[in-house]
Amino acid sequence: MTQTRPMPQPGILDIAPYKAGEGHVAGANAITKLSSNENPHGPSPAAMEAVRAAAETLAVYPSSDHAALRTAIGEVWNLDPARIVCGAGSDEIISLLCQSYAGPGDEVLYTEHGFAMYPISAMAAGATPVQVRERHRTADVDALLEAVTERTAMVFIANPNNPTGTMLPPEELARLAAGLPGRVMLVLDGAYAEYVPGYDAGAALVDAHENVVMTRTFSKIYGLGGLRIGWGYAPAHVIEVLNRVRGPFNVSAAGLAAAEAAVRDTAYTERCRAANAEWRGFMQRELNALGLPTDESHANFVLPRFPGPEMAAAADQRLRAHGIIVRPVGGYGLPDFLRITIGDEVACRRVIAILDEFLKERA
Ligand SMILES: *Cc1c(COP(=O)(O)O)cnc(C)c1O
Repeated sequence: MTQTRPMPQPGILDIAPYKAGEGHVAGANAITKLSSNENPHGPSPAAMEAVRAAAETLAVYPSSDHAALRTAIGEVWNLDPARIVCGAGSDEIISLLCQSYAGPGDEVLYTEHGFAMYPISAMAAGATPVQVRERHRTADVDALLEAVTERTAMVFIANPNNPTGTMLPPEELARLAAGLPGRVMLVLDGAYAEYVPGYDAGAALVDAHENVVMTRTFSKIYGLGGLRIGWGYAPAHVIEVLNRVRGPFNVSAAGLAAAEAAVRDTAYTERCRAANAEWRGFMQRELNALGLPTDESHANFVLPRFPGPEMAAAADQRLRAHGIIVRPVGGYGLPDFLRITIGDEVACRRVIAILDEFLKERA
């Protein structure tokens, strides 16, 4: 049969497009958005000042080697700047990794309740995503190792994971890295790593193995989701590959400047981490007291379980009626749950008050 119009590569039309957290409710003007794990306190004032200063030189192309930002990241996290690569969000790093290391016939493993961008990026590269079961909403190293075949090219794990908030301890990550064949790339997604005190997000495993990569983002604790900046830390041979595939100007000048200021403002980051820990504790305690169990979250959101999918959907509707948008996670195989970003004190107290009233009515 002759084609009458250009056709995309095989697999592309099978991709279910990513659904972003919603930010609007029809008819409501004051919205509290707790659907995308954004920092309710916003970025460091130094990052905002850097963006204002960058407005003076918008005609000039940004740095192509991102040297200043890589140096800052290297200093703050004690990493070799030569093995850091920056991207338009860590989503771009994930996509570049799939594009470079997986293709038709290859399998890309991700976990049962893992981040949606892993199967999307795998399919966009022509590869086959393979979902691996979890145990109690936590990645299972034995199940992952058992799922490896001669076709496996990559394994993605977010630690802590989104949308569950659970995480594997360092020993389990090390066991996974040690158990994978050297030709299989292990990608440790540390989008929420800054919320875990003392956690290196897998950097030591990157140093110890030729097949381990870590991804990080400025979209979560750094409050810069709107600017699209992320980074990866990888063995030198992987960095050489990604630098060939990425666009030469893939991160904007404003993004580079803001990220550098944000990562250097460690005091601000620590205040955001502490505030999140305080209000996450409040949310978990109060939700549990309402009869909505939660796993222990290590990130900036909680995942309460409702008594069935109808209750979860009705609670979501009730919160929306009050202008509060949370994240239904049926698409992640969790129809009984809602993922709620930890907002500021006012937002947290309102969510609990609304759910309290809702559950009393239903009792
Ligand atoms: C939010 C998130 C990301 C990153 O997003 P970018 O904005 O593209 O940096 C990556 N992984 C997980 C698990 C996330 O939740």
